[in-house]
Amino acid sequence: MTSPGTELEPAVLSMRGIHKSFGDVEVLRGIDLDVRRHEVVALIGASGSGKSTLLRTANLLETIDDGQVFLSGTDISDPRVKLDAVRARIGVVFQHYNLFPHLSVLGNVTLASRTVHRRGKAAAEKHALELLDQIGLADKAREFPDRLSGGQQQRVAIVRAIATDPELLLLDEITSALDPELVGEVLELVRTLAQGGSTIVMATHEMAFARDVAHRVVFLDGGLIVEQGSPEQLLGHPEQERTREFLARFT
Ligand code: ADP
Ligand code: MG
Repeated sequence: MTSPGTELEPAVLSMRGIHKSFGDVEVLRGIDLDVRRHEVVALIGASGSGKSTLLRTANLLETIDDGQVFLSGTDISDPRVKLDAVRARIGVVFQHYNLFPHLSVLGNVTLASRTVHRRGKAAAEKHALELLDQIGLADKAREFPDRLSGGQQQRVAIVRAIATDPELLLLDEITSALDPELVGEVLELVRTLAQGGSTIVMATHEMAFARDVAHRVVFLDGGLIVEQGSPEQLLGHPEQERTREFLARFT
């Protein structure tokens, strides 16, 4: 995808010198990452390289041991910052267990806008139904998640994440748990959001998708950003041996 002049856009997310250990194991060893408005960044790397932890620290779902996280210029890692207010500005979708099983599709999609953003029920539902209609799932609004396919569930999870108009969308291997035939519909929705100007950081093993949709690909290994660049550069002409070794597994 051609870059929308992202170098001129302000940084939505800035991670500075992020360190994170679990016990004796240092999982993030000094991460510096800037993501600009309208930018789509694909995070790639082997299992255990720290992708999920990076995304979780970006949203402060994990505490950090050192460093700072800025959201649109505000230091959200400052302990005085109210995390609920910060998280309301970031949409997150994980690999598994995204939807609340005891709530209908509509209940899931409207929950955050009603509780966090204090939208009225009617306004939240109207907005949710419009979004569901755009992805062809308006007729499922009253269903419970277990009546939907995995692909439909992930699309609803994405819609739930964007229902509050977040500044930033974090997607953590959102197609990894899906049957292969359901992956496409979820990726198509991400592509639509990317083309619509959403700011996205996505951990993914879908290299073809990353090449197609991301503006920048970041390769993580052992809790460090080893190499990053445009999809053509990083996926086509990696400079680092570790990047080449990793990518060789996908061809
Ligand atoms: P990835 O998403 O790239 O597979 P993760 O960020 O999930 O990598 O994990 C990086 C490392 O951190 C792994 O060694 C993993 O076992 C460890 N790890 C992740 N979360 C925890 C946790 N809550 N407690 C202990 N270790 C963890
Ligand atoms: Mg992970």
